Amino acid sequence: MRTSQFLISTLKEDPKEAAVESHRLMLRAGMIRQIASGVYTWLPTGMRVLSKVSRIVREEMDKTGALEIAMPMVQPADLWKESGRYTKYGPELCRFKDRKENEFALGPTHEEVVTDIARREVKSARQLPLCLYQIQNKFRDEIRPRFGVMRGREFLMKDAYSFHTTHESLEKTYQDMYDAYSRVFTRMGLEFRPVEADTGSIGGNHSHEFQALADAGEDVIAWSDGSQYAANIEMAEALAPAYDRGAPGEAYSEVATPGCHTVDEAAASLGLDSKKVLKSLIVHGPKKEDGSYELVMFCLCGNHELNEVKAIKIPGIDDPLEMATEEEIQAFTGAHTGSLGPVGFKGRIIIDRTADRMSNFACGANKTGFHLVNVNWDRDVPSYEVMDIRNVEEGDPSPDGQGTLHLRKGIEVGQVFMLGTKYSEAMKATVKDENGKDIPMIMGCYGIGVTRAIAAVIEQHHDDRGIIWPEEIAPFKVAIVAIKPTKSEPVRLAAEKLYADLQKAGVEVIYDDRDERPGVMFADMELMGVPHIVTIGDKSLANGKIEYKLRKTGDKEELDADSALDAILAKLGK
Ligand code: ATP
Ligand code: MG
Repeated sequence: MRTSQFLISTLKEDPKEAAVESHRLMLRAGMIRQIASGVYTWLPTGMRVLSKVSRIVREEMDKTGALEIAMPMVQPADLWKESGRYTKYGPELCRFKDRKENEFALGPTHEEVVTDIARREVKSARQLPLCLYQIQNKFRDEIRPRFGVMRGREFLMKDAYSFHTTHESLEKTYQDMYDAYSRVFTRMGLEFRPVEADTGSIGGNHSHEFQALADAGEDVIAWSDGSQYAANIEMAEALAPAYDRGAPGEAYSEVATPGCHTVDEAAASLGLDSKKVLKSLIVHGPKKEDGSYELVMFCLCGNHELNEVKAIKIPGIDDPLEMATEEEIQAFTGAHTGSLGPVGFKGRIIIDRTADRMSNFACGANKTGFHLVNVNWDRDVPSYEVMDIRNVEEGDPSPDGQGTLHLRKGIEVGQVFMLGTKYSEAMKATVKDENGKDIPMIMGCYGIGVTRAIAAVIEQHHDDRGIIWPEEIAPFKVAIVAIKPTKSEPVRLAAEKLYADLQKAGVEVIYDDRDERPGVMFADMELMGVPHIVTIGDKSLANGKIEYKLRKTGDKEELDADSALDAILAKLGK
């Protein structure tokens, strides 16, 4: 490809809207352009990368025996009503009506559509197992689209769905997919970890996420230094402390803490470590007949954070988790949010395992501007339930009993789920077993965020000059920069020849024939992340040399002009 025939859309200036490196570099390298919040066009440079990644995904899916299909993005609402997700999915599901007032949704995921296909097309248990996949745009009306294509509203996903008659068969396909995902992300050059994960709105009972390690990630993963344990922090269990609760001391008493709204403010006012102050939060429990909610109090050690995923899973807690409003709290306790505590609280109290070991602690007095000190469980709070409701922290013991937990940020690039029969039961997708009885198909589903994974690669592979593509997904493998070819016929001829020879050898090469200043051309090729850059200039050519630079390391080398083709092919492993 000649730059004169290509659309080079590089930007000199940093775009203001980009908060993370991948977004900044994808805009600057001319890969993508936004046309609406979270909605992007992929320009030619970006599209070349996207095609390569899609090809890797397709190859690895095909190796597992999965069959490619193309489902529509437009989905009838009736299917979503059948599965029960039409109301459950919330405003992320983009709903609309056609001219005949039929209701539709834009597919954020395709469990309903594929289950409908399976119930129509699968006639016999002998046709199973079956795994269908597609690589297709999804639409999710994300509340906060950001970081470019990392959290877009329209994005490319590979989604696969498998159907089985036995759980063992599901387990096998799950493992095949897990292995295929590992190959995909390895081929893309990603440093990633598979981690135990929550199943969220997709459902099911067993799941792993593939997390690309990067500081720009929105997820936190906990991993053990003493075992293979790794989990999304949403799932990682915080064990009960190894120590016992201390004995109660003197009776509790009330202390004025005017203007204190947070645990830290209260701790400072009381002259205590925040670990000695209880954090009390009130959330919605079950909905009552009059439409209001019962209120439930969560208590944690002051330096710990509530884990919302764990909280939602507790029976009797409203899903999605809603904090009680200031008015509800005032009406129920008579106090401001910053002065809450379990002593005298008239609702259900759930305390964290670590909070359970606190003794002689401080907490809000349920009286605005006051705290209680020397409070003790049982003696002062007779009724409570102990559960794991907090986020694990750096240094916590690993839940498998081996090693210590560490935390890292991750970008979720893929997720695999054992769904079970959630969709097949609701939508009556059945096959006959050997006794002629209808049984629901057992399902798995498997997603890769193709466009997000590309952003994740850039987060891991860049420097201050631009993107550094791993070879297999680079938009071009080799760039030829010719210096002033219009002024030097030997330069022009040498560049044209190398370009033709590389093309003949099947190498994806971009020949910068724009006749720009050398610095500009070179900067563009580095920004776009071309792995091998060859410069042809008058001076070195006069000595029979051309210059070669490896983008990744910056190492430069002089190649003999005559044998440059072979030298470059050798570097490409050809
Ligand atoms: P997240 O927790 O990041 O919102 P999710 O768990 O809802 O993602 P899945 O339903 O598991 O997403 O979808 C499969 C894959 O699609 C994800 O692993 C992720 O890589 C990708 N993906 C999901 N939402 C987005 C988005 N808004 N933009 C880009 N990719 C996305
Ligand atoms: Mg997910």
